[in-house]
Amino acid sequence: MRNIINGNEAVAWAAMEMGLNYFSHYPGSPVNKIAPAIYELNSKYKGSVVFNDAINEHVATLSALGASLSGARSMVVMKHVGMNIAADPLNYIGYTGIRGGMLLVVGTDPGAQCSTGEEDPHWYLPQINLPLFEPTTISQIYYQTKEAFLLSEKYATAVVVFLPTRLCFNHDSLLTDESKIGQAQREFKFIKNPASYINVGAQCVANSKKLFAKMETISQDVFFGKEFFNANSAIGVITRGATFGHSYESILRLELSEKVHLLNIDMTYPLNEAKLLPFFANKKEVVVIEDQGGFLENSLKSLFYGKIQTAMEGKIFFTPYGEISFSSIYNFFADKFDIAIRQMGENLQAPHEIEVPERLGTFCEGCPHRASFYIIEKVLRAEQGDDRWVIGGDIGCSSLPPQRADWLLCMNAGVGISQGITAMASSQLVISTGGDASFFHAGISGIASAVHNKVDLLHLVFDNEYIAMTGHQASLSSNPKLDHEKLLYALGVDKLFTVDAFDLSSYEKKLKQLVHSRGVRVLWVKGACSKMLPAQAIKRREAFSPTINSSKCQDCTLCYRELQCPAIVKKTTNLPHFSIDLDRCKRCRVCKQVCPNGAISANVNWMKLAQALLAKDV
Ligand code: SF4
Ligand code: SF4
Repeated sequence: MRNIINGNEAVAWAAMEMGLNYFSHYPGSPVNKIAPAIYELNSKYKGSVVFNDAINEHVATLSALGASLSGARSMVVMKHVGMNIAADPLNYIGYTGIRGGMLLVVGTDPGAQCSTGEEDPHWYLPQINLPLFEPTTISQIYYQTKEAFLLSEKYATAVVVFLPTRLCFNHDSLLTDESKIGQAQREFKFIKNPASYINVGAQCVANSKKLFAKMETISQDVFFGKEFFNANSAIGVITRGATFGHSYESILRLELSEKVHLLNIDMTYPLNEAKLLPFFANKKEVVVIEDQGGFLENSLKSLFYGKIQTAMEGKIFFTPYGEISFSSIYNFFADKFDIAIRQMGENLQAPHEIEVPERLGTFCEGCPHRASFYIIEKVLRAEQGDDRWVIGGDIGCSSLPPQRADWLLCMNAGVGISQGITAMASSQLVISTGGDASFFHAGISGIASAVHNKVDLLHLVFDNEYIAMTGHQASLSSNPKLDHEKLLYALGVDKLFTVDAFDLSSYEKKLKQLVHSRGVRVLWVKGACSKMLPAQAIKRREAFSPTINSSKCQDCTLCYRELQCPAIVKKTTNLPHFSIDLDRCKRCRVCKQVCPNGAISANVNWMKLAQALLAKDV
């Protein structure tokens, strides 16, 4: 069947056609759409994939290894930063080897287009010592995912596939074959193999030796790459991943195909010296074009040190940070070959870099986190009226207006960094924050450690019932819900309250109570994501129509500047200066509670409210 599919779906199609048996993941952009695509294909074409929506990448990786050791073809998916969480098991998978083909698919994000940061995970590869594919197009994602499964089983090694954001959400037309889904029959049995699976001391060193030998064999046997343009040219260009497309197009548009010899390397670890060496034979210079920190350039320089005369550079021309854009590659070629771009006609000009105003992000209308930060700041201001108070931030939806926290770096940085600050800067009032998904991901250990070390910690968990930021995947707060109160009491927290994010007076009261007590205190703030309740939202819409009463509004701007709900808009004429856009308003009624002048009325339709109450939705 011919399909228009994106990079995420290309992985899903290839894996399903290869008879995927086990799929585990921790959601994260840009690879957050692989799981839904596999769910859909599995149900539509009657596959038999076993799913694990794992609590974090560590668990996801180990469970995929377990499935593989039982003979299943398995795949584990995570984003670049997830490799940090999975790094511990990843360092051992090379030693154990695998049985059923096992793929680790990682979303990379040069330029941090859909992530908190742009960490370059390439440097893990020499450490974990597993083969790495870096496809360049949607069709190459599809074919190389299949090749990766075959390579995995042939050499009994897990194989890594890196997918940059640029490719994950691009679309292409691809011929897929649904008739292959669910066809492969495999027998699943764990076969004991202590020599490979018990990795301690001398045996671990022996397996490390075997792994180096295996990777040496792969580097000699396997090569995935392709050459383009003039093989006789003395100028070579080497690319990997998304920079291939930009380089290829630049060479064509600047009419340089006779002057350049282009090599794209699809399997960038380990490198095949014998296959690569001929490329350098007639080259005076080679330019390596790649995103981020120069992993390929380093690897090539190391591989050919003292063996070639060719001058090879990359990162002296391109930044080691951010995404290498088409225009920077295009301009590089134009400069190098002394082409005056503007004289070549409009169609050959590089696209303009469009300057857009900085937008720092905000919470959605009706978002429970808006109420949370309003209350946190109100309480902190009242308790410690200067700027000494500290708010520990976590990544996820609660970081959308980034300026509201004092730091944002990685998952659970709130609960972690706060412990050091409260210990050392005890005169400052510290509130750490984090989402429910972060809490279950690795925040539990942060709380347990605080209890164990008797830290004075006040932590707020924003429970919006989903891993909302990456596409509303289920968390342990979704149905079936894990009982957070039992869990936290079992961990030994000193005080725990659960509050409704939309009930501001009770929220404020409980937070003040916790601020004035000591020990490990947790405030569990419940408030579902406003994007995930369409049926209930409709009922709310029917029951309330908040408006600003012009005779009562004093233009104090509290609802507009402090609460910052996007549904409250500034008018250019007539008093009051603010009004509520009912098309955007989610009827959370937080603004009504914030207004000090009673100017915002809910305008209740009592009949509809009774219906909503009966449906337990207010
Ligand atoms: S009720 Fe008020 S705070 Fe809530 S979404 Fe509507 S305008 Fe915004
Ligand atoms: S908080 Fe109330 S009084 Fe102040 S601007 Fe908003 S509606 Fe008017």
